[in-house]
Amino acid sequence: MGISTLSAATTKGTADYVNEVLTSVRAKNPAEPEFHQAVQEVLESLGPALSKHPEYQKARILERMVEPERVIMFRVPWVDDQGNVQVNRGFRIQMSSAIGPYKGGLRFHPSVNLGILKFLAFEQVLKNSLTTLPMGGGKGGSDFDPKGKSDNEVMRFCQSFMTELCRHIGPDTDVPAGDIGVGGREIGFLFGQYKRLKNEFTGVLTGKGLNWGGSLIRPEATGYGCVYFASEMLKTRKEKLEGKLCLVSGSGNVSQYTIEKLLDFGAKVIAMSDSNGVIHDHEGINREKLAWVLELKNVRRGRIKEYADHFKTAKYMPVDPSKDFNPLWAIKADCAFPSATQNEINAKDAATLVMNGCKVVAEGANMPSTLDATKLFLEAKILYGPAKAANAGGVATSGLEMSQNSMRLSWTRAEVDERLHNIMIAIHKNSFETAEKYGMPGNLVFGANIAGFLKVADSMLDQGLV
Ligand code: NDP
Repeated sequence: MGISTLSAATTKGTADYVNEVLTSVRAKNPAEPEFHQAVQEVLESLGPALSKHPEYQKARILERMVEPERVIMFRVPWVDDQGNVQVNRGFRIQMSSAIGPYKGGLRFHPSVNLGILKFLAFEQVLKNSLTTLPMGGGKGGSDFDPKGKSDNEVMRFCQSFMTELCRHIGPDTDVPAGDIGVGGREIGFLFGQYKRLKNEFTGVLTGKGLNWGGSLIRPEATGYGCVYFASEMLKTRKEKLEGKLCLVSGSGNVSQYTIEKLLDFGAKVIAMSDSNGVIHDHEGINREKLAWVLELKNVRRGRIKEYADHFKTAKYMPVDPSKDFNPLWAIKADCAFPSATQNEINAKDAATLVMNGCKVVAEGANMPSTLDATKLFLEAKILYGPAKAANAGGVATSGLEMSQNSMRLSWTRAEVDERLHNIMIAIHKNSFETAEKYGMPGNLVFGANIAGFLKVADSMLDQGLV
Protein backbone atom coordinates (compact mmCIF):
# COMPACT_ATOMS: atom_id res chain seq x y z
CA MET A 1 0.00 0.00 0.00
CA GLY A 2 1.41 3.41 -0.95
CA ILE A 3 1.62 5.82 1.96
CA SER A 4 -0.35 8.41 -0.01
CA THR A 5 -3.45 6.30 0.50
CA LEU A 6 -3.12 6.83 4.25
CA SER A 7 -3.56 10.59 4.06
CA ALA A 8 -6.47 12.68 3.01
CA ALA A 9 -4.51 15.93 3.41
CA THR A 10 -4.88 18.38 0.55
CA THR A 11 -1.67 19.55 -1.01
CA LYS A 12 -0.58 23.18 -0.94
CA GLY A 13 1.64 25.01 -3.40
CA THR A 14 5.23 23.84 -3.05
CA ALA A 15 6.59 27.17 -1.78
CA ASP A 16 3.84 27.39 0.86
CA TYR A 17 4.52 23.84 1.96
CA VAL A 18 8.26 24.49 2.34
CA ASN A 19 7.66 27.76 4.22
CA GLU A 20 5.21 26.09 6.56
CA VAL A 21 7.70 23.35 7.42
CA LEU A 22 10.51 25.88 7.92
CA THR A 23 8.35 28.00 10.23
CA SER A 24 7.48 24.93 12.26
CA VAL A 25 11.14 23.81 12.45
CA ARG A 26 12.15 27.23 13.84
CA ALA A 27 9.29 27.22 16.36
CA LYS A 28 9.79 23.65 17.55
CA ASN A 29 13.59 23.80 17.75
CA PRO A 30 14.38 27.20 19.31
CA ALA A 31 18.01 28.23 19.82
CA GLU A 32 19.27 25.80 17.19
CA PRO A 33 20.41 28.23 14.43
CA GLU A 34 22.73 25.75 12.69
CA PHE A 35 19.90 23.22 12.41
CA HIS A 36 17.57 25.90 10.97
CA GLN A 37 20.28 26.88 8.48
CA ALA A 38 20.92 23.34 7.25
CA VAL A 39 17.21 22.59 6.89
CA GLN A 40 16.54 25.88 5.10
CA GLU A 41 19.35 25.30 2.59
CA VAL A 42 18.01 21.88 1.70
CA LEU A 43 14.26 22.54 1.73
CA GLU A 44 14.53 25.68 -0.38
CA SER A 45 16.17 23.69 -3.16
CA LEU A 46 13.61 20.87 -3.23
CA GLY A 47 10.82 22.81 -4.98
CA PRO A 48 11.04 21.11 -8.38
CA ALA A 49 11.14 17.62 -6.81
CA LEU A 50 8.16 18.39 -4.57
CA SER A 51 6.13 19.78 -7.49
CA LYS A 52 6.84 16.70 -9.56
CA HIS A 53 5.95 14.31 -6.72
CA PRO A 54 2.86 15.51 -4.80
CA GLU A 55 2.89 12.18 -2.96
CA TYR A 56 5.79 13.45 -0.81
CA GLN A 57 3.69 16.28 0.58
CA LYS A 58 0.70 14.00 1.17
CA ALA A 59 2.90 11.61 3.14
CA ARG A 60 4.44 14.57 5.06
CA ILE A 61 7.93 13.49 4.06
CA LEU A 62 9.54 16.86 4.94
CA GLU A 63 7.94 17.00 8.40
CA ARG A 64 9.17 13.46 9.06
CA MET A 65 12.68 14.09 7.73
CA VAL A 66 13.28 17.09 10.03
CA GLU A 67 12.22 15.13 13.11
CA PRO A 68 14.99 12.78 14.35
CA GLU A 69 13.86 9.16 14.75
CA ARG A 70 15.51 9.26 18.17
CA VAL A 71 17.61 11.67 20.28
CA ILE A 72 19.72 10.30 23.11
CA MET A 73 21.23 12.73 25.66
CA PHE A 74 23.21 11.54 28.61
CA ARG A 75 25.52 12.44 31.48
CA VAL A 76 29.22 11.57 31.08
CA PRO A 77 31.00 11.66 34.47
CA TRP A 78 34.77 11.07 34.63
CA VAL A 79 37.75 11.81 36.87
CA ASP A 80 40.64 14.04 35.73
CA ASP A 81 44.33 13.51 36.53
CA GLN A 82 44.04 15.65 39.67
CA GLY A 83 41.26 13.43 41.02
CA ASN A 84 38.50 15.98 40.36
CA VAL A 85 35.09 14.85 39.16
CA GLN A 86 34.17 16.25 35.73
CA VAL A 87 30.75 16.08 34.07
CA ASN A 88 30.11 16.42 30.34
CA ARG A 89 27.04 15.94 28.20
CA GLY A 90 26.86 13.16 25.61
CA PHE A 91 24.55 12.92 22.59
CA ARG A 92 23.57 10.61 19.76
CA ILE A 93 21.07 11.79 17.16
CA GLN A 94 19.59 8.86 15.22
CA MET A 95 18.13 10.90 12.39
CA SER A 96 17.03 8.47 9.70
CA SER A 97 17.26 4.73 9.09
CA ALA A 98 15.35 4.86 5.80
CA ILE A 99 18.16 3.42 3.69
CA GLY A 100 20.36 1.64 6.24
CA PRO A 101 21.65 1.60 9.83
CA TYR A 102 22.37 5.05 11.33
CA LYS A 103 25.86 6.15 10.35
CA GLY A 104 27.80 9.32 11.16
CA GLY A 105 30.61 10.68 13.25
CA LEU A 106 31.16 11.63 16.87
CA ARG A 107 32.42 15.17 17.58
CA PHE A 108 34.23 16.12 20.80
CA HIS A 109 34.48 19.92 20.99
CA PRO A 110 33.39 22.46 23.63
CA SER A 111 30.98 24.05 21.11
CA VAL A 112 28.96 20.83 20.71
CA ASN A 113 25.26 21.17 21.49
CA LEU A 114 21.98 19.63 20.37
CA GLY A 115 21.42 22.05 17.47
CA ILE A 116 24.89 21.55 15.98
CA LEU A 117 24.54 17.77 16.12
CA LYS A 118 21.06 17.92 14.60
CA PHE A 119 22.37 19.99 11.67
CA LEU A 120 25.17 17.48 11.18
CA ALA A 121 22.79 14.50 11.42
CA PHE A 122 20.36 16.07 8.95
CA GLU A 123 23.15 16.71 6.43
CA GLN A 124 24.47 13.20 7.02
CA VAL A 125 21.21 11.58 5.90
CA LEU A 126 21.39 13.17 2.45
CA LYS A 127 25.15 12.74 2.19
CA ASN A 128 24.96 9.03 2.95
CA SER A 129 22.22 8.69 0.37
CA LEU A 130 24.54 10.20 -2.24
CA THR A 131 27.36 7.73 -1.53
CA THR A 132 25.46 4.91 -3.34
CA LEU A 133 25.91 2.77 -0.18
CA PRO A 134 23.10 1.58 2.16
CA MET A 135 23.61 3.85 5.18
CA GLY A 136 21.11 5.89 7.21
CA GLY A 137 22.18 9.07 9.00
CA GLY A 138 23.18 9.97 12.55
CA LYS A 139 25.64 12.10 14.49
CA GLY A 140 26.78 12.36 18.07
CA GLY A 141 29.42 13.62 20.41
CA SER A 142 30.07 15.65 23.50
CA ASP A 143 31.06 19.12 24.73
CA PHE A 144 34.24 17.46 26.08
CA ASP A 145 37.41 19.23 24.89
CA PRO A 146 40.26 16.79 24.22
CA LYS A 147 42.71 19.71 23.81
CA GLY A 148 45.19 19.85 26.67
CA LYS A 149 43.96 16.56 28.19
CA SER A 150 46.34 13.68 28.89
CA ASP A 151 45.92 10.35 27.08
CA ASN A 152 44.65 8.86 30.36
CA GLU A 153 42.01 11.57 30.73
CA VAL A 154 40.85 11.06 27.14
CA MET A 155 40.66 7.32 27.80
CA ARG A 156 38.62 7.72 30.97
CA PHE A 157 36.25 10.09 29.22
CA CYS A 158 35.83 7.75 26.21
CA GLN A 159 35.15 4.79 28.50
CA SER A 160 32.46 6.67 30.41
CA PHE A 161 30.91 7.98 27.18
CA MET A 162 30.76 4.48 25.66
CA THR A 163 29.34 2.95 28.86
CA GLU A 164 26.07 4.71 28.03
CA LEU A 165 26.34 4.87 24.23
CA CYS A 166 26.84 1.10 23.88
CA ARG A 167 23.16 0.51 24.73
CA HIS A 168 22.08 2.39 21.61
CA ILE A 169 24.51 1.30 18.88
CA GLY A 170 25.51 -1.91 17.12
CA PRO A 171 26.86 -3.12 13.77
CA ASP A 172 23.33 -3.43 12.32
CA THR A 173 21.79 -0.52 14.27
CA ASP A 174 24.11 2.47 14.43
CA VAL A 175 27.79 2.66 13.49
CA PRO A 176 29.55 5.86 14.69
CA ALA A 177 32.87 7.17 13.33
CA GLY A 178 35.23 10.11 14.01
CA ASP A 179 34.76 13.84 13.44
CA ILE A 180 36.31 16.95 15.03
CA GLY A 181 38.28 15.89 18.11
CA VAL A 182 37.69 12.18 17.50
CA GLY A 183 40.52 10.48 15.62
CA GLY A 184 42.29 7.12 15.80
CA ARG A 185 43.16 7.46 19.49
CA GLU A 186 39.57 8.14 20.58
CA ILE A 187 38.08 5.46 18.30
CA GLY A 188 40.50 2.96 19.88
CA PHE A 189 39.41 3.79 23.44
CA LEU A 190 35.71 3.78 22.45
CA PHE A 191 36.01 0.43 20.64
CA GLY A 192 37.90 -1.16 23.53
CA GLN A 193 35.18 -0.22 26.01
CA TYR A 194 32.35 -1.36 23.69
CA LYS A 195 34.03 -4.74 23.22
CA ARG A 196 34.52 -5.14 26.96
CA LEU A 197 30.94 -4.26 27.85
CA LYS A 198 29.27 -6.29 25.10
CA ASN A 199 31.75 -9.16 24.94
CA GLU A 200 31.70 -9.06 21.15
CA PHE A 201 34.15 -8.03 18.45
CA THR A 202 32.11 -6.40 15.70
CA GLY A 203 32.31 -3.55 13.22
CA VAL A 204 30.43 -1.19 15.56
CA LEU A 205 32.71 1.79 14.85
CA THR A 206 34.61 2.86 11.75
CA GLY A 207 37.98 4.57 11.58
CA LYS A 208 39.46 1.63 13.55
CA GLY A 209 43.18 0.78 13.65
CA LEU A 210 44.46 -1.41 10.82
CA ASN A 211 45.33 -4.28 13.16
CA TRP A 212 41.78 -4.56 14.51
CA GLY A 213 39.32 -4.14 11.66
CA GLY A 214 40.13 -0.73 10.21
CA SER A 215 40.21 -0.05 6.48
CA LEU A 216 43.19 1.22 4.56
CA ILE A 217 42.53 4.76 3.20
CA ARG A 218 39.86 5.57 5.84
CA PRO A 219 42.01 8.26 7.51
CA GLU A 220 42.79 9.76 4.11
CA ALA A 221 39.31 9.36 2.61
CA THR A 222 37.55 12.67 3.33
CA GLY A 223 40.49 14.77 2.11
CA TYR A 224 41.28 12.55 -0.88
CA GLY A 225 37.60 12.39 -1.82
CA CYS A 226 37.22 16.17 -1.68
CA VAL A 227 40.14 16.61 -4.07
CA TYR A 228 38.74 13.93 -6.45
CA PHE A 229 35.46 15.86 -6.39
CA ALA A 230 37.22 19.18 -7.16
CA SER A 231 39.00 17.51 -10.06
CA GLU A 232 35.65 16.27 -11.46
CA MET A 233 34.20 19.79 -11.18
CA LEU A 234 37.20 21.24 -13.05
CA LYS A 235 36.86 18.64 -15.81
CA THR A 236 33.43 20.08 -16.70
CA ARG A 237 35.32 23.27 -17.68
CA LYS A 238 38.19 21.34 -19.26
CA GLU A 239 40.56 22.41 -16.50
CA LYS A 240 42.90 20.60 -14.08
CA LEU A 241 44.16 21.02 -10.53
CA GLU A 242 47.75 20.93 -11.75
CA GLY A 243 49.48 24.25 -11.11
CA LYS A 244 46.52 25.75 -9.21
CA LEU A 245 47.16 27.81 -6.04
CA CYS A 246 45.10 26.40 -3.17
CA LEU A 247 44.00 27.49 0.32
CA VAL A 248 43.13 24.79 2.86
CA SER A 249 41.64 25.80 6.20
CA GLY A 250 42.16 23.80 9.37
CA SER A 251 45.08 21.46 10.00
CA GLY A 252 43.30 18.34 11.22
CA ASN A 253 42.45 15.08 9.53
CA VAL A 254 40.54 16.45 6.53
CA SER A 255 43.02 19.28 5.86
CA GLN A 256 46.08 17.05 6.08
CA TYR A 257 44.90 14.55 3.46
CA THR A 258 43.39 17.23 1.25
CA ILE A 259 46.87 18.73 1.03
CA GLU A 260 48.48 15.33 0.37
CA LYS A 261 46.14 14.60 -2.54
CA LEU A 262 46.48 18.14 -3.93
CA LEU A 263 50.25 17.55 -4.07
CA ASP A 264 49.61 14.28 -5.99
CA PHE A 265 47.60 16.30 -8.53
CA GLY A 266 50.41 18.87 -8.92
CA ALA A 267 48.60 21.74 -7.16
CA LYS A 268 50.39 24.21 -4.86
CA VAL A 269 48.97 24.68 -1.34
CA ILE A 270 49.99 28.02 0.16
CA ALA A 271 47.99 28.26 3.39
CA MET A 272 46.49 26.31 6.27
CA SER A 273 45.17 27.26 9.73
CA ASP A 274 43.76 26.33 13.11
CA SER A 275 41.32 28.13 15.37
CA ASN A 276 44.05 30.56 16.52
CA GLY A 277 45.58 31.60 13.22
CA VAL A 278 46.69 31.14 9.63
CA ILE A 279 50.06 30.33 8.06
CA HIS A 280 50.81 31.65 4.57
CA ASP A 281 53.75 29.91 2.89
CA HIS A 282 54.29 31.53 -0.49
CA GLU A 283 56.72 28.77 -1.53
CA GLY A 284 54.06 26.12 -0.95
CA ILE A 285 53.59 23.33 1.58
CA ASN A 286 55.60 20.46 0.08
CA ARG A 287 55.62 16.82 1.27
CA GLU A 288 58.43 17.39 3.75
CA LYS A 289 56.60 20.34 5.34
CA LEU A 290 53.34 18.36 5.37
CA ALA A 291 55.06 15.48 7.20
CA TRP A 292 56.23 18.04 9.78
CA VAL A 293 52.63 19.30 10.18
CA LEU A 294 51.35 15.73 10.69
CA GLU A 295 53.87 15.23 13.48
CA LEU A 296 53.00 18.63 14.99
CA LYS A 297 49.23 18.01 14.94
CA ASN A 298 48.86 14.25 15.45
CA VAL A 299 51.75 13.49 17.82
CA ARG A 300 52.82 16.69 19.60
CA ARG A 301 49.29 18.17 19.33
CA GLY A 302 50.77 21.68 18.91
CA ARG A 303 49.51 24.89 17.28
CA ILE A 304 49.93 25.86 13.60
CA LYS A 305 51.82 29.02 14.64
CA GLU A 306 54.86 26.79 15.21
CA TYR A 307 55.00 26.19 11.42
CA ALA A 308 55.97 29.82 10.82
CA ASP A 309 58.58 29.63 13.63
CA HIS A 310 60.09 26.56 11.96
CA PHE A 311 59.79 27.39 8.23
CA LYS A 312 60.99 30.89 7.47
CA THR A 313 59.18 30.97 4.10
CA ALA A 314 55.87 31.28 6.00
CA LYS A 315 54.25 34.13 7.84
CA TYR A 316 51.68 33.75 10.63
CA MET A 317 48.47 35.77 10.93
CA PRO A 318 46.44 35.37 14.13
CA VAL A 319 42.66 35.09 13.72
CA ASP A 320 40.68 37.66 15.66
CA PRO A 321 37.20 36.20 16.36
CA SER A 322 35.81 39.70 16.97
CA LYS A 323 36.51 40.64 13.33
CA ASP A 324 33.99 39.82 10.59
CA PHE A 325 36.49 38.12 8.28
CA ASN A 326 39.18 35.43 8.32
CA PRO A 327 42.56 36.52 6.84
CA LEU A 328 42.93 33.08 5.25
CA TRP A 329 40.24 33.81 2.65
CA ALA A 330 41.94 37.10 1.68
CA ILE A 331 44.98 35.29 0.28
CA LYS A 332 44.83 35.27 -3.51
CA ALA A 333 44.36 31.74 -4.86
CA ASP A 334 42.56 29.67 -7.53
CA CYS A 335 40.89 27.14 -5.23
CA ALA A 336 39.61 27.07 -1.63
CA PHE A 337 39.16 23.92 0.45
CA PRO A 338 37.40 24.92 3.71
CA SER A 339 38.18 21.95 5.98
CA ALA A 340 37.82 23.19 9.57
CA THR A 341 34.27 23.84 10.78
CA GLN A 342 30.76 25.20 10.11
CA ASN A 343 30.23 28.81 8.96
CA GLU A 344 33.94 29.51 8.57
CA ILE A 345 33.27 31.44 5.31
CA ASN A 346 30.84 34.35 5.65
CA ALA A 347 29.52 36.59 2.88
CA LYS A 348 32.45 38.99 3.24
CA ASP A 349 35.01 36.16 2.97
CA ALA A 350 33.14 34.72 -0.03
CA ALA A 351 33.10 38.11 -1.79
CA THR A 352 36.86 38.47 -1.20
CA LEU A 353 37.55 35.00 -2.58
CA VAL A 354 35.49 35.67 -5.71
CA MET A 355 37.03 39.13 -6.19
CA ASN A 356 40.51 37.59 -5.97
CA GLY A 357 39.70 35.17 -8.81
CA CYS A 358 38.97 31.98 -6.85
CA LYS A 359 37.37 29.54 -9.31
CA VAL A 360 36.77 26.47 -7.13
CA VAL A 361 35.36 26.00 -3.62
CA ALA A 362 35.24 22.35 -2.51
CA GLU A 363 33.88 21.88 1.01
CA GLY A 364 35.78 19.36 3.16
CA ALA A 365 34.14 20.63 6.36
CA ASN A 366 30.39 20.36 7.00
CA MET A 367 28.42 23.52 6.12
CA PRO A 368 31.54 25.75 6.14
CA SER A 369 29.78 28.48 4.11
CA THR A 370 26.95 30.61 5.49
CA LEU A 371 23.73 30.81 3.44
CA ASP A 372 24.79 34.25 2.09
CA ALA A 373 28.26 32.97 1.17
CA THR A 374 26.73 30.03 -0.71
CA LYS A 375 24.43 32.39 -2.58
CA LEU A 376 27.40 34.51 -3.62
CA PHE A 377 29.34 31.51 -4.94
CA LEU A 378 26.32 30.35 -6.94
CA GLU A 379 25.69 33.82 -8.38
CA ALA A 380 29.36 34.12 -9.37
CA LYS A 381 28.98 30.73 -11.14
CA ILE A 382 32.27 29.45 -9.77
CA LEU A 383 32.69 25.68 -9.35
CA TYR A 384 31.10 25.18 -5.93
CA GLY A 385 31.09 21.69 -4.41
CA PRO A 386 28.76 21.63 -1.36
CA ALA A 387 29.83 19.60 1.66
CA LYS A 388 27.33 16.79 1.45
CA ALA A 389 28.70 15.89 -1.98
CA ALA A 390 32.35 17.00 -1.78
CA ASN A 391 33.18 15.48 1.63
CA ALA A 392 31.13 12.28 1.29
CA GLY A 393 34.31 10.26 0.67
CA GLY A 394 34.87 9.87 4.41
CA VAL A 395 31.58 8.20 5.18
CA ALA A 396 31.70 6.28 1.89
CA THR A 397 34.98 4.70 2.97
CA SER A 398 33.46 4.04 6.39
CA GLY A 399 30.81 2.13 4.42
CA LEU A 400 33.60 0.19 2.73
CA GLU A 401 35.10 -0.54 6.17
CA MET A 402 31.71 -1.94 7.25
CA SER A 403 31.59 -4.18 4.16
CA GLN A 404 35.09 -5.51 4.85
CA ASN A 405 34.18 -6.17 8.52
CA SER A 406 31.05 -8.07 7.48
CA MET A 407 33.02 -10.18 5.03
CA ARG A 408 35.90 -10.53 7.51
CA LEU A 409 38.55 -9.56 4.98
CA SER A 410 40.68 -6.54 4.09
CA TRP A 411 41.01 -4.92 0.70
CA THR A 412 44.32 -3.47 -0.48
CA ARG A 413 45.07 0.23 -0.40
CA ALA A 414 44.75 0.45 -4.19
CA GLU A 415 41.39 -1.34 -4.14
CA VAL A 416 39.86 0.95 -1.50
CA ASP A 417 41.29 4.06 -3.17
CA GLU A 418 39.85 3.02 -6.52
CA ARG A 419 36.41 2.41 -4.98
CA LEU A 420 36.59 5.80 -3.23
CA HIS A 421 37.59 7.53 -6.46
CA ASN A 422 34.74 5.87 -8.39
CA ILE A 423 32.23 6.83 -5.68
CA MET A 424 33.34 10.50 -5.85
CA ILE A 425 33.01 10.43 -9.66
CA ALA A 426 29.52 8.92 -9.28
CA ILE A 427 28.45 11.52 -6.67
CA HIS A 428 29.61 14.35 -8.93
CA LYS A 429 27.86 12.84 -11.96
CA ASN A 430 24.62 12.28 -10.07
CA SER A 431 24.61 15.82 -8.60
CA PHE A 432 25.55 17.39 -11.94
CA GLU A 433 22.95 15.46 -13.94
CA THR A 434 20.20 15.97 -11.36
CA ALA A 435 20.82 19.75 -11.41
CA GLU A 436 20.43 19.71 -15.21
CA LYS A 437 17.34 17.50 -15.11
CA TYR A 438 15.57 19.80 -12.65
CA GLY A 439 16.42 22.98 -14.56
CA MET A 440 19.40 24.38 -12.61
CA PRO A 441 22.44 23.35 -14.72
CA GLY A 442 25.80 23.64 -12.95
CA ASN A 443 24.20 24.21 -9.51
CA LEU A 444 25.55 21.32 -7.45
CA VAL A 445 23.82 22.51 -4.25
CA PHE A 446 20.56 21.94 -5.99
CA GLY A 447 21.67 18.70 -7.66
CA ALA A 448 23.12 17.13 -4.51
CA ASN A 449 20.14 18.08 -2.33
CA ILE A 450 17.55 16.71 -4.77
CA ALA A 451 19.50 13.55 -5.64
CA GLY A 452 20.11 12.74 -1.96
CA PHE A 453 16.52 13.54 -1.01
CA LEU A 454 14.78 11.44 -3.69
CA LYS A 455 16.35 8.15 -2.58
CA VAL A 456 15.47 8.76 1.08
CA ALA A 457 11.94 10.01 0.32
CA ASP A 458 11.13 7.05 -1.95
CA SER A 459 12.44 4.59 0.64
CA MET A 460 10.24 6.25 3.28
CA LEU A 461 7.19 5.87 1.03
CA ASP A 462 8.00 2.18 0.46
CA GLN A 463 8.31 1.48 4.19
CA GLY A 464 5.01 3.01 5.30
CA LEU A 465 4.37 5.39 8.15
CA VAL A 466 7.24 4.64 10.55
P1 NDP B 1 39.98 17.54 13.33
O1 NDP B 1 39.61 17.61 14.75
O2 NDP B 1 40.98 16.54 12.88
O3 NDP B 1 40.49 18.98 12.83
C1 NDP B 1 39.67 20.10 12.93
C2 NDP B 1 40.44 21.32 12.45
O4 NDP B 1 39.52 22.40 12.34
C3 NDP B 1 41.52 21.76 13.41
O5 NDP B 1 42.57 22.37 12.70
C4 NDP B 1 40.77 22.77 14.28
O6 NDP B 1 41.61 23.74 14.87
C5 NDP B 1 39.86 23.43 13.28
N1 NDP B 1 38.65 23.90 13.97
C6 NDP B 1 37.76 23.13 14.67
N2 NDP B 1 36.80 23.89 15.20
C7 NDP B 1 37.08 25.15 14.85
C8 NDP B 1 36.46 26.39 15.09
N3 NDP B 1 35.33 26.47 15.83
N4 NDP B 1 37.02 27.49 14.53
C9 NDP B 1 38.15 27.40 13.79
N5 NDP B 1 38.80 26.25 13.53
C10 NDP B 1 38.27 25.15 14.05
O7 NDP B 1 38.59 17.35 12.54
P2 NDP B 1 38.34 16.83 11.06
O8 NDP B 1 39.45 17.23 10.16
O9 NDP B 1 37.94 15.42 11.15
O10 NDP B 1 37.01 17.65 10.67
C11 NDP B 1 37.06 18.92 10.02
C12 NDP B 1 35.72 19.19 9.35
O11 NDP B 1 35.47 18.17 8.37
C13 NDP B 1 34.49 19.19 10.26
O12 NDP B 1 33.55 20.12 9.77
C14 NDP B 1 33.95 17.78 10.09
O13 NDP B 1 32.57 17.70 10.41
C15 NDP B 1 34.19 17.58 8.61
N6 NDP B 1 34.21 16.18 8.16
C16 NDP B 1 35.08 15.28 8.70
C17 NDP B 1 35.07 13.98 8.24
C18 NDP B 1 36.08 12.98 8.72
O14 NDP B 1 36.13 11.90 8.13
N7 NDP B 1 36.89 13.26 9.70
C19 NDP B 1 34.10 13.51 7.25
C20 NDP B 1 33.30 14.57 6.68
C21 NDP B 1 33.34 15.84 7.15
P3 NDP B 1 41.90 23.69 16.47
O15 NDP B 1 42.90 22.59 16.64
O16 NDP B 1 42.43 25.03 16.78
O17 NDP B 1 40.58 23.41 17.13
